[in-house]
Amino acid sequence: MSEDSLPREYFPAGHTVCKAGELGDSAYVIEVGTVEVLSGADRFIAAMGPGELFGEMALLDQLPRTATIRTVTPATMLRIDRSHVQELLRRTDPVVRYLMTLLLERFRQRTELSDIFSQPLAYSADNLDETTATRTLMLAQELAYAVEHGGLELAYQPMVGFASQDIVGFETLIRWHHPLLGTIMPANLIGLAEKTGIIHQVGYWVLKQALADWPKLRAACRAIGQQHPFLSVNLSAAELIKPDIVNTICTLLDSAGIEPQELRIELTETLVIEDFDQVATVLRILAGLGIAIALDDFGTGYAGLDYLNKLPISCLKIDRSFIQESDFLPRGMEIVNTAICLAKALNMTTTVEGVETAAIARQLRDMGCDIAQGYFYGHPMPLNSAIAWIANPEFKKVLQA
Ligand code: C2E
Ligand code: CA
Ligand code: CA
Repeated sequence: MSEDSLPREYFPAGHTVCKAGELGDSAYVIEVGTVEVLSGADRFIAAMGPGELFGEMALLDQLPRTATIRTVTPATMLRIDRSHVQELLRRTDPVVRYLMTLLLERFRQRTELSDIFSQPLAYSADNLDETTATRTLMLAQELAYAVEHGGLELAYQPMVGFASQDIVGFETLIRWHHPLLGTIMPANLIGLAEKTGIIHQVGYWVLKQALADWPKLRAACRAIGQQHPFLSVNLSAAELIKPDIVNTICTLLDSAGIEPQELRIELTETLVIEDFDQVATVLRILAGLGIAIALDDFGTGYAGLDYLNKLPISCLKIDRSFIQESDFLPRGMEIVNTAICLAKALNMTTTVEGVETAAIARQLRDMGCDIAQGYFYGHPMPLNSAIAWIANPEFKKVLQA
């Protein structure tokens, strides 16, 4: 298909070439002129000029256009129809055809999989449409495969004590390196795992891996004089009602040579605990063994005070939304201050997460907060980077900022 065999079209300025939401079966190469790319809500996204291609999705699938394209100046364009591409493929070398088919198939899979994260996942019978359900299951299978075959990784984020101006521990945060979708963050991964039951495999993998990694991180902390660092692990309530969870944790601690006092379990306040009594029993046993229990995202759920009253919580982890820059920052800081007072009255320690600036860190220190965590001190890092970070004396300067 040479340029000359493609139909050439002329559009005046202000003409809508394609409209978001409509079906299309052609792509365009701009020869002369400029177009603007607009979102479905007519918001400007980008401008395109000579030599650029748009509408190419229509060559692959008969899916609705995702953007509106409107000419800014008079424009001439070459139109490529899906039938052209199909004809070209039919006439081409079988190896090239096979490769193209394979690439298109992968591209389709990728778009379908990405879609799943932009829609609410369909779990209940009411909203379970077949396509979403199939995609959800496909992704869940891939997650189960990733658990078994090394597709998951743990990142470690430092936690810093205000009193000692030193590292006091690390929080473990999961990452999924998907071969097509890239790194999938826990916000997407954990929901999928919880609703499809894979959370037990994921949770077990996290605990096992974190406890296997911990002696290396602990050794790095001890090498700089921090004798009693702790490892903080996020567990969802679904994991805590697994019948053998206490045994699992004890066995893993034992085989890694880790004292229960070195482990902290973070339980998010936003989670609705369905079997509250069972979770409470498990947490009491774990706390009795010396494992610290932290209430995560404090202030964002509806049951925080009830949990504080009824569960053996020893640490309050105040949500980052209260300290992020916004018009409401002074109010947020007042809430943090009150939460710190509440924690003190209940004999609990406080951690504030999401600390991004020295100014916020100083305010928190002055309010009597115990531990800070956030990008100001260190981002979540893979194990080896975290070890290197501890060994690098530069980080001390940040702690003292
Ligand atoms: P979380 O427990 O509240 O974890 C803190 C989140 O805040 C992390 O996001 C971290 O990367 C991010 N963060 C840390 N410092 C800053 C900062 O200074 N600024 C900002 N803007 N963000 C900061 P991430 O890694 O995406 O984790 C999200 C959530 O997923 C976690 O929230 C936790 O609830 C859950 N999660 C992570 N790993 C696991 C896991 O292994 N098991 C379970 N059940 N949940 C997990
Ligand atoms: Ca957490
Ligand atoms: Ca949190």
